[in-house]
Amino acid sequence: MSSSKSEAAAKPSNLISGDTGDWEVVIGLEVHAQVASNAKLFSGASTEYGAEPNSHVSLVDAAMPGMLPVINRECVAQAIRTGLGLNAQVNLKSIFDRKNYFYPDLPQGYQISQYKQPVVGEGKIEIDVDGEALTVGVERLHLEQDAGKSLHDQHPDYSYVDLNRSGVALMEIVSKPDMRSAKQAQAYVTKLRTILRYLGTCDGDMEKGNLRADVNVSVRKPGTELGTRCEIKNVNSIRFIGQAIEVEARRQIEIIEDGGKIDQETRLFDPARGETRSMRSKEEAHDYRYFPDPDLLPLELKQDYVDGLQQHLPELPDEKRSRFMKDFGLSAYDANVLVAERPSADYFEQVAQGRDGKLAANWVINELFGRLNKEGKDIAASPMSADQLGSIVDLISSNAISGKIAKDLFEIVWSEGGDPATIVEARGMKQVTDTGALEKAVDDIIAANPDKVEQAKAKPSMLGWFVGQVMKGTGGKANPAAVNEILKQKLGI
Ligand code: ADP
Ligand code: MG
Repeated sequence: MSSSKSEAAAKPSNLISGDTGDWEVVIGLEVHAQVASNAKLFSGASTEYGAEPNSHVSLVDAAMPGMLPVINRECVAQAIRTGLGLNAQVNLKSIFDRKNYFYPDLPQGYQISQYKQPVVGEGKIEIDVDGEALTVGVERLHLEQDAGKSLHDQHPDYSYVDLNRSGVALMEIVSKPDMRSAKQAQAYVTKLRTILRYLGTCDGDMEKGNLRADVNVSVRKPGTELGTRCEIKNVNSIRFIGQAIEVEARRQIEIIEDGGKIDQETRLFDPARGETRSMRSKEEAHDYRYFPDPDLLPLELKQDYVDGLQQHLPELPDEKRSRFMKDFGLSAYDANVLVAERPSADYFEQVAQGRDGKLAANWVINELFGRLNKEGKDIAASPMSADQLGSIVDLISSNAISGKIAKDLFEIVWSEGGDPATIVEARGMKQVTDTGALEKAVDDIIAANPDKVEQAKAKPSMLGWFVGQVMKGTGGKANPAAVNEILKQKLGI
């Protein structure tokens, strides 16, 4: 086997093997992100989640005759901020269209959306999958209204309609068909959600339905034209996005390999059965008879206004990651973990400020995140403040405590609170670096274990055993490096 061939084989492949050879899966996502805003897109009604059904419905949201929509300036600003955060083109002129269809939870009989001229054009999102970087193109971002919600399981004979969500602003963010695996699609949604949260333009809470994805999947033989796609509607968790893609790609491959062809259709993912099933054949744009909404003027923006929003954008995760790597000497992996959520990044930065960045990152990622995870807590609910963890890091850096004692100290501060330095003093946890005391401890161990001393002289790797005994004898407070030195001298190794 030539070496180039074995290297190629070692690379993780995104291809799926079938009876007729390898297949490539192609994925494009349409993400619906609820705009973080107190009021709806065209009315002043509240967007509060979980309220009594039909308690946040204005006459506009209920589509009473003669009511006129009035655009919510903040929702527009949020869409522009998002566009800027996705390095996208912001269109100074965009149009609101009516997308006509009938559904009981859509009292207007149409959804106000943007079709030919969206507020945001092409952009991109950088993702990282197993250390491999990939840029996914964003096709567009447009503003639209959400529909109400039909409730079918409240009563055996009736369906109910809750219009609280009717008219809430959504950003539909459409990707290019640039993804080639379930993992890539999951990384894309995760990254998009991170960016939205940094920007404060969407809460990104998939459980509450304020971020949902329509997943478009097709398969093809590598290097050939794009295949016919199916669109899996409203997938509401990152895990389900991955599962839906995998089962849908399999289904399509089997059909084609059996000599069939894919019908372009809209499907639903059923997590309980782990399958997708047909919902309806795919509608075409002309089915909706889109036309510009005569109740709304074109949305025209001034460049100054867009520039002003740009100037106030927060530092975004990619920039923050580069800065963490440069300023604190972190690995790309650690930096990625820390910037995934803004509150974690802020916490880390406070711990690391003026300290050893790598040591700080270790303690935040391994100890703090590990502990938070175990207790199912969010960083905002951490019982240990960044200042407290920072003091623990200081005590380690100044050699006041050993790494092992630091873990005990972490436990104490976590469960009891208090100032770490004071606790170390009060409980006598300081590391013993005093040579006299350490020599005494070493002598005791040597005297008690003459047989081991003989063994160690023949086999220097036995030294570790002695270090362990001294650490044990001093309750973990001995400075291991100093103990090592003393032992080497005394044993003549
Ligand atoms: P529509 O609005 O009718 O759903 P679009 O052309 O806007 O159609 O595309 C919707 C999504 O489908 C986009 O995210 C796009 O990337 C994706 N897509 C388009 N063609 C394919 C394909 N052959 N396979 C997978 N995804 C695709
Ligand atoms: Mg679509």
